[in-house]
Amino acid sequence: MRLILLGPPGGGKGTVAKRLQAELNIPVISTGVILREAIDKKNKLGIEVENIMRKGGLVPDHIILEIIKERIKQEDCKNGYIFDGFPRNIKQVNSLEELNKELNKYIDYVFYFEIPFSEIIQRLSNRRVCKKCSTNYNLSFNPPKKDNTCDLCGGELYQRADDKEETIKNRLKVFAKQTTPLKKYYKEKKLLKVIDANLSENAFLAIKKVLRGMH
Ligand code: ADP
Ligand code: ZN
Repeated sequence: MRLILLGPPGGGKGTVAKRLQAELNIPVISTGVILREAIDKKNKLGIEVENIMRKGGLVPDHIILEIIKERIKQEDCKNGYIFDGFPRNIKQVNSLEELNKELNKYIDYVFYFEIPFSEIIQRLSNRRVCKKCSTNYNLSFNPPKKDNTCDLCGGELYQRADDKEETIKNRLKVFAKQTTPLKKYYKEKKLLKVIDANLSENAFLAIKKVLRGMH
């Protein structure tokens, strides 16, 4: 099964993606996580993208495409995958379509995470992420049991460089301009399912329900 999770920053895609991964036994492919790992490693890719990401802009499409091509070739993707944060503009959609055509694969569903814009800033500014396993926490509604420490792996929590208020506004602008047109596109392709993402538990259950109805 191949799924796309689409939605604004702070919409809870990452959290739901992880739960789906455990449930469906297919990997999450999060371009944001892959890019942040590169930044931590200070490798060539990391150096190239660090500034763009700090400002909340989009990383060039050819870089993203290389990452995706490499990643979906790997053995653990043979039964499918969950895209989190990709595709993010129409060009990436087209490239994905070409790639899938070559591989004779297709996307089963695109889940759009609907969440009021007013919620987003509050969510992102309270977000903390595990350095080791990239699990997300929220200091106000989903805090870790122990301060600054991941419940799952004991890793240290940190605030993402792009979860600062000025950058959040820019990310939302980029999202509105470049990513929201994908909603219409996938609706026309009859792949779109709109999910109420106000509570991530509900979003997860709603997706499961759709997937169960598949058979
Ligand atoms: P969020 O959904 O909270 O914005 P992500 O981790 O998905 O967080 O993305 C963080 C940043 O990584 C983006 O602001 C962008 O700079 C970069 N990025 C991630 N995925 C892509 C993509 N598919 N295309 C271009 N840039 C991307
Ligand atoms: Zn962790």
